[in-house]
Amino acid sequence: MTQRYAEFHRRSIEDRDGFWREQAMLIDWEKPFDRVLDYSRPPFARWFVGGLTNLCHNAVDRHLALRGDQKALIWISTEVDKTESFTYRQLHEQVNRVAAMMLSLGVKRGDRVIIYMPNMPEAVFAILACARLGAIHSVVFGGFAAASLAARIDDARPTLLVTADGGSRMGKVIAYKPLVDEAIRLSKYPPAKVLIFRRGFDLQMANVAQRDVDWADLARQYERAEVPCAWLESSEPSYILYTSGTTGKPKGVQRDTGGHAVAMAASMKYIYCGAAGETIFTTSDIGWAVGHSYIIYAPLIAGLTSILYEGVPIRPDAGVWWKIVQEYKVNVMFSAPTAIRVLKKHDPAFLQKYDLSSLRHLFLAGEPLDESTHAWISEGLGKPVIDHYWQTETGWPVLTALPGVEKTPIKYGSPSFPAYGYDLKLLREADASEADADEKAVVVIEPPLPPGCMTTIWGDDERFVKTYFSTFTKKLVYSTFDWGIRDREGYYFILGRTDDVINVAGHRLGTREIEEAVQSHANIAEVAVVGVADALKGQIPVAFAVVKDNAKIATAAQKSAHEKEVMAAVDAQLGAIGRPARVHFVSLLPKTRSGKLLRRSIQALAEGRDPGDLTTLEDPGALEQIRAALKGR
Ligand code: ATP
Ligand code: MG
Repeated sequence: MTQRYAEFHRRSIEDRDGFWREQAMLIDWEKPFDRVLDYSRPPFARWFVGGLTNLCHNAVDRHLALRGDQKALIWISTEVDKTESFTYRQLHEQVNRVAAMMLSLGVKRGDRVIIYMPNMPEAVFAILACARLGAIHSVVFGGFAAASLAARIDDARPTLLVTADGGSRMGKVIAYKPLVDEAIRLSKYPPAKVLIFRRGFDLQMANVAQRDVDWADLARQYERAEVPCAWLESSEPSYILYTSGTTGKPKGVQRDTGGHAVAMAASMKYIYCGAAGETIFTTSDIGWAVGHSYIIYAPLIAGLTSILYEGVPIRPDAGVWWKIVQEYKVNVMFSAPTAIRVLKKHDPAFLQKYDLSSLRHLFLAGEPLDESTHAWISEGLGKPVIDHYWQTETGWPVLTALPGVEKTPIKYGSPSFPAYGYDLKLLREADASEADADEKAVVVIEPPLPPGCMTTIWGDDERFVKTYFSTFTKKLVYSTFDWGIRDREGYYFILGRTDDVINVAGHRLGTREIEEAVQSHANIAEVAVVGVADALKGQIPVAFAVVKDNAKIATAAQKSAHEKEVMAAVDAQLGAIGRPARVHFVSLLPKTRSGKLLRRSIQALAEGRDPGDLTTLEDPGALEQIRAALKGR
């Protein structure tokens, strides 16, 4: 660890008030705050108490004078073959209009609005319109099924639901409207109104009288409408967003207003190094925390041009993202390891086909980035690739390199260091004492959580404390539920989730460590390892792997030879104790819709149990493959 970074981080913890008072200058305040932090009721933190501000003002209005004609948003859809762009001035017009439309539908300050739309500009307008009105948006990922949407409707109890006629994936149209109808039928607290944007898909849709409103019809009535920004007290909620549900029932993460705005602005400066006038391309969906923070709020608050992409990374071909970088001179890019592992199965020549000279960094988050994938993408692009670690709960990175503070060397497989504001600790599970260097322990944050982090679980303060702050009885700390390790140079490594540990003959192994070892074999694109109950050893690790080159496992004999090779690779890296009892080859792994491995479902199948809540599963076919592999088919 180095001087500049260390000093920056130290100050953010030791002089918390001074540090954040300075960062708060990065945004506009209608009325200055009285106090930087109120922490009189741990673990609840209130940032910038008494300050009045508005997210939409900071993301849009305040840029009109200086950069009204600069592009704010560029929408590129490889699904419907369309590109549209909006200057800050045009974005301002659109957002005002949608805010007026929402007002006419009865939306008031503090009301919830569910937005169930694909990556399209109107979704961004709707989000910012909510922020303008002081209404609380809850974006639900467009791929979720009716039951998932219904559960979120009942938790948030929205006044309005905004949707589109449909979305598209790999060129296949998915009708949203019937899903919405079904979700509303299933829900106890349905919205009074549903606003529908018709994208022109040829879909049969019956409007529900009194409830359904056509976007275009309503928009015509509010052509030049202007709606003032509602000035919110800093702690007033801006949005609710549900976690991915990888480990169980999703939690409604509530975010504040002022702390969130400041956190977004500061992260753009110190972490992502995106300056006003530059261009950022975040490949996420607006339904995830990454999409909220780094397609919409942070780029716009900081005056960047943000690219909103609707499509997959391999259509029309696996070079499509790099072509976008060349064409729009992207400076900052943000994606996920799961997408890079998809690219890894394609020709690496795509990484060199386009002029990427504008690009400074590629940031990746959402899942562990294994060493070999980290090396593959860094060397392929010839650019620094920054693995960084965060959660829906935190809204911005917890562990990351901070090139805006100091250019520290990257270690493959490591998300580097704690970000400023996070008093990070590695605590021993047994007695909450601090772990030594190179000792695996639970990653926790000493409260107060910094600005921008969740302030509570929507409507359930008690669950907030019970879920996140009750892991250790001796200490009030926020548990990330992830294992980590810090090496002697201060670099952190995430070793998987605390509930993904297996106990082999008394040895506790993180499934992630075994996965990393499996992935050291050159022909493995991705892998999931789970612990399966075993009468003799307690648990045994079993691996499900996707290979890069299928020709190598064409026959049964080749498969078995390949399995032995993979086991030998694990022996070499981890030792025989971590060797999977079986390595099954599949072409697809079960993942959540946000691209995270659903280990709990794989494990349940491997133990002959019910796979559990599958509402967040991306592709049911993947579970079928696991079943088939287990049956030896
Ligand atoms: P739920 O909490 O509902 O089970 P989830 O934890 O998958 O869902 P997210 O908030 O989207 O929901 O994901 C955060 C988690 O993703 C982290 O706690 C961590 O396990 C994993 N993660 C994110 N970034 C990284 C990274 N860079 N390296 C390793 N793991 C990461
Ligand atoms: Mg989580």
